[in-house]
Amino acid sequence: MMVHEPARQVPLLAEVDVCVAGGGAAGIGAALAAARGGARVLLLERLGFLGGTMTAVTLGGLCGMYREADGEMHRCIGGLWLEMEARARRMDALGTLRRSPVTRGVHGIPYDPERLKLLFDTWLAEAGVQVLTEAWVAATAMDSARITHAFIETKAGRRAIAARIFIDATGDADLAVAAGCGFQLGEAGQTQHASAMFRMAPVDRAAFATITRREQDARMHAAAEAGAPLPRTTLAIYPYLSEGEMHLNATRVMHADGRSFDWTDPWERAAAEREGRRQAFLYQDAAREHLPGFAQARVTAIGALLGIRESRLVDGEATLTEADVMEGRMAADRIAITAWPVEDHAPGRATIWRPLPDGLAYGIPFGSLVPRATRNLLVAGRCLSATHTAQASARVTIPCLAMGEAAGTAAAMAGDDVRVDVGALQSRLRAAGAMLDT
Ligand SMILES: Cc1cc2nc3c(=O)[nH]c(=O)nc-3n(C[C@H](O)[C@H](O)[C@H](O)COP(=O)(O)OP(=O)(O)OC[C@H]3O[C@@H](n4cnc5c(N)ncnc54)[C@H](O)[C@@H]3O)c2cc1C
Repeated sequence: MMVHEPARQVPLLAEVDVCVAGGGAAGIGAALAAARGGARVLLLERLGFLGGTMTAVTLGGLCGMYREADGEMHRCIGGLWLEMEARARRMDALGTLRRSPVTRGVHGIPYDPERLKLLFDTWLAEAGVQVLTEAWVAATAMDSARITHAFIETKAGRRAIAARIFIDATGDADLAVAAGCGFQLGEAGQTQHASAMFRMAPVDRAAFATITRREQDARMHAAAEAGAPLPRTTLAIYPYLSEGEMHLNATRVMHADGRSFDWTDPWERAAAEREGRRQAFLYQDAAREHLPGFAQARVTAIGALLGIRESRLVDGEATLTEADVMEGRMAADRIAITAWPVEDHAPGRATIWRPLPDGLAYGIPFGSLVPRATRNLLVAGRCLSATHTAQASARVTIPCLAMGEAAGTAAAMAGDDVRVDVGALQSRLRAAGAMLDT
């Protein structure tokens, strides 16, 4: 049944040059870069803090800024990431870079999400970005293919934001869909499975270190074979910054028949959040029973949001493909490079990793940030235009920050159309420290 919603007049809350929807890694990068390009910027975020998946879901580490060649790590993302890293180190918010002993190219820097929230507050304030938290982007007003206003829901009611350029960094492409852009939902509706992230303490780390990663996987697998109802047995367990606390990327939130939840359906999302929490305690009990050092440990925190790896992928002027990633193609219009493996959270107990050939990195095309259907909208972050498999590589945190940096830089350059001169955009990005070549 459909219900008629009466038309209404909506107060205009702000008029800016660039309006960024979503304050995760991509939105932060976009807002900072646009402000540095001289634009008046408003960043809208539905939660009460910035960082998105990084701070609301929480991760074992920040990834995607290195490529591996001949066993050595080489940085491949610069720009705002270097500034964030330096700020975070000064705040004692980062640990030490670690590499996977098992899979080439897999690396991460552990971090403290609470300190990062504070870092983002001050970083954006210093850049002159206006930040409005607890503001849910719900709809748009259009003039043909141009967005004239975004409508947000706030505790004061619905409000309108006018801007010349909009950037959708919501992860779910909420703004782009409201503006009429086409999208794909994973591959034939099947997306990477989600995870509720959690921490446990106190863990005897010395005891835990007595088993290898392969042994850990074997133990969990044996437990599942013996009847423990564990949907996943390859657990990523990393030291958190506080002594004795470990971060667990362990759960696999999917339907019992292996189908993924539909991230565009509110009932499905609510059910998935509950399932994530249920599984956190399931894995707590499995870790206590099967892993050395965990016997006395309990769940100390669960991410405030379920971690959704993939939902809507916008139809863009270019689409990043599996071949682009695996063959290390350097698109002529690239605005960032990365070498993170394809990380496939498909049905089945193991996460499947497909590293790029040694030494390679690939370029993320500017066209994958430009929705086809609109003139003054860019997307950035995990809702870029990509195939399901390519997104399974490009979506990690620091490439999302770099995509945001590129989108914000382009937005500040743009007149009333985001299709800017790509050579000029690349020059600006390079001048700001971005790396576009290996
Ligand atoms: C379970 C899981 C584990 C992962 N592990 C790692 C890892 O170990 N290392 C790593 O580097 N990456 C990891 N990733 C990937 C990475 O964290 C994310 O893909 C990346 O941070 C996405 O950044 P983003 O800015 O594109 O989106 P998000 O971080 O999702 O940010 C989107 C923001 O928009 C806001 N928003 C959404 N809708 C609206 C709306 N309508 N109005 C206003 N605001 C809105 C959200 O609240 C959020 O703050 C993981 C992801 C998941 C889900």
